Amino acid sequence: MKKTSIKLSEVTTYKFGGYCHNFFEINSLKQLENTVFNIRDKDLIILGKGSNIVFSDEGYEGTIIKPDFNFIDLNIEKNILSLGASTYLPDIARFSKDNSISSLEWLIGIPGSVGGAVQMNAGAYGYEFSDHIKSVTFYNFETNKIESESKDFFEFSYRTAKNLKNKMVVSVDFAVEKGDPVVIQSQVSEYLNRRKKTQPPAIYNAGSVFKNPKDGSAGYFIEKAGLKGFSIGGVEVSQKHANFFVAQKDSKAQSLYELVKYVKDIVHQKFDISLTEEIIFAGKFK
Ligand SMILES: Cc1cc2nc3c(=O)[nH]c(=O)nc-3n(C[C@H](O)[C@H](O)[C@H](O)COP(=O)(O)OP(=O)(O)OC[C@H]3O[C@@H](n4cnc5c(N)ncnc54)[C@H](O)[C@@H]3O)c2cc1C
Repeated sequence: MKKTSIKLSEVTTYKFGGYCHNFFEINSLKQLENTVFNIRDKDLIILGKGSNIVFSDEGYEGTIIKPDFNFIDLNIEKNILSLGASTYLPDIARFSKDNSISSLEWLIGIPGSVGGAVQMNAGAYGYEFSDHIKSVTFYNFETNKIESESKDFFEFSYRTAKNLKNKMVVSVDFAVEKGDPVVIQSQVSEYLNRRKKTQPPAIYNAGSVFKNPKDGSAGYFIEKAGLKGFSIGGVEVSQKHANFFVAQKDSKAQSLYELVKYVKDIVHQKFDISLTEEIIFAGKFK
């Protein structure tokens, strides 16, 4: 497996980030087995579509592995949909629509990969990724083996999978059901329209910045604090959705970091609520 250098702004939706000189793209597990990674090096990051991660302007000194396992296989007899880790979530929604599989329409507007959706337990419109999971196959950096576990092992909860540390998702099996193609088509259109109306487009942002607190939504408190439209260094609290912070072209990850800190402080002062980040900052920030 060949080590390369990459400009991280090219592999994330925020388009932030300097260089990483220890970047590995892998499309076969043999490649992985033949390369020794020191997993005690806490700086190993598995990268999906980069739609929930913000790299420092200074780049990233650790190691990044980007899996390239892109497939969707349907076993009709067993009602199992097998998905490669790098499969794009909207492609799953489109495949489901074409094959009359119900309940996966919600994935249409989330610009992430299967691996990222497992780690984040991505969710929208009442669904969570883990709702569909039967089992996950992963590369275990502690045993250096490919292993498989059923859903309960991972202890999924709101926007997290507890037991995915030192593991790289390789593929996922979903338990699926057939549905009415007309209903599925109309659900997909409805979810797309809803996103268009309520969220900025999927560029120069990473979706929701904060997790929702117990009582209410993060966006509600940010808006109530009067922060819609507030900006630092060209990164702005979206006018359309207060929990999306949108960057102007050529702005800095550091500005986003400062904006996140500022918004947290104000919301805490005004409502005594401690927001926690859903987006992940990686590398050095001041
Ligand atoms: C416009 C927009 C809308 C969004 N809407 C939603 C939404 O409705 N709901 C929602 O939940 N999220 C949403 N998101 C956030 C994001 O798309 C999801 O969290 C998505 O699941 C992240 O996937 P990714 O492949 O981009 O992960 P990355 O950003 O690449 O990585 C995220 C995390 O997953 C880990 N990871 C990635 N791949 C693997 C792997 N193969 N094995 C192990 N760990 C891995 C990374 O190490 C990191 O910790 C939105 C983002 C945008 C830009």
